[in-house]
Amino acid sequence: MKKALSVYIHIPFCLRKCLYCDFLSAPAGEQERDAYVRALCGEIRAEAEHYKEYMVTTVFLGGGTPSLLSGKQLARIFDVLREHYAFSGKPEITVEMNPGTITEEKLLHYAKSGVNRVSIGLQSADNTELARLGRIHTWEEFLAGYELCREVGFRNINVDLMSALPGQTFASYLETLRKVTALRPEHISAYSLIIEEGTPFYEMYAEEGEAALPDEETERAMYEETKRLLGDCGYRRYEISNYALPGYECAHNCVYWQRGDYVGFGLGAASMTGGRRWSNVRSLSDYMELPDGAKKTAFCTLSEDDQMEETMFLGLRMMRGVSEASFSYAFHRPLDAVYGKVIEKHCAQGLLTRENGAVRLTDRGIDVSNYVLADFLLGE
Ligand code: SF4
Repeated sequence: MKKALSVYIHIPFCLRKCLYCDFLSAPAGEQERDAYVRALCGEIRAEAEHYKEYMVTTVFLGGGTPSLLSGKQLARIFDVLREHYAFSGKPEITVEMNPGTITEEKLLHYAKSGVNRVSIGLQSADNTELARLGRIHTWEEFLAGYELCREVGFRNINVDLMSALPGQTFASYLETLRKVTALRPEHISAYSLIIEEGTPFYEMYAEEGEAALPDEETERAMYEETKRLLGDCGYRRYEISNYALPGYECAHNCVYWQRGDYVGFGLGAASMTGGRRWSNVRSLSDYMELPDGAKKTAFCTLSEDDQMEETMFLGLRMMRGVSEASFSYAFHRPLDAVYGKVIEKHCAQGLLTRENGAVRLTDRGIDVSNYVLADFLLGE
């Protein structure tokens, strides 16, 4: 039987760089995008020989802004994938999109290529907040794109939201939550803004101090309201920052959290199969110039301790927690033999709970997850 494989494809282009963004993305012209798609298809083709014993169960086109590609460019990528890789019967295939780049022509090509899930980066329903983030779109443009996705027939849509934005108030965040839940997307990702070094925001807010950002109490209230309101609207929290209507959890992301095998194609994309990890080169000129099968770098074989730590760190992000049976199966020893004392300590403090053969964080444990997870490091 073939093993399951998730495929990530990175499209490193955006119309304009958002002020808070530290992802591997930059503006590029049509010719550059087309040359990149050619190189990407070459890489996908050249790597296929390593994945003969696998079957693709999920594909995720992320970025950057994958929806900057024309429908035909995206169709070319999927044609190469389907020609060279075996697919499972019902793979989950997601494309990330930015409002302002969504057209009917593209959506029809996506649907024809087998895309069955779209993920739209909205971030906020407040146009002033969007402008402050340097986003290219308004709430109205998001709405038009969202409705177009529905009209074309997409029945699995994620909307990305962010809280703790500069100038955001509790009331404006609540309004964003209300407007978005009224649309009934199947999935909502809700993250807090993190100001990363090297971004324009870092300079802006380091200078202004933290005064322009919501204070800790407001940020906390936003976090609590996300849980409460989404829960009341029927969304189940299945990972610290991810909520879904029943049956619409993102299978691709669950593979990351459960340490399944995945391969990344495109600039800087990361891969992991069988405890071995690597990533592609991060310089666009290197990526374009290196031969098709030689874009990989930074190989690393994880020790067993590394793998056990990752299993706990990633698995505890999910509300279902870490399955004791899966842990013993993967590492040939019971979870308690490795982490018994740590689990006992945090269960006694009410930060972890153990039920139905799994260990998971409690609500209180999620709030102090960094403290709990630090104890799962081995050899300290
Ligand atoms: S659209 Fe996304 S990837 Fe592109 S600059 Fe903005 S945050 Fe970064």
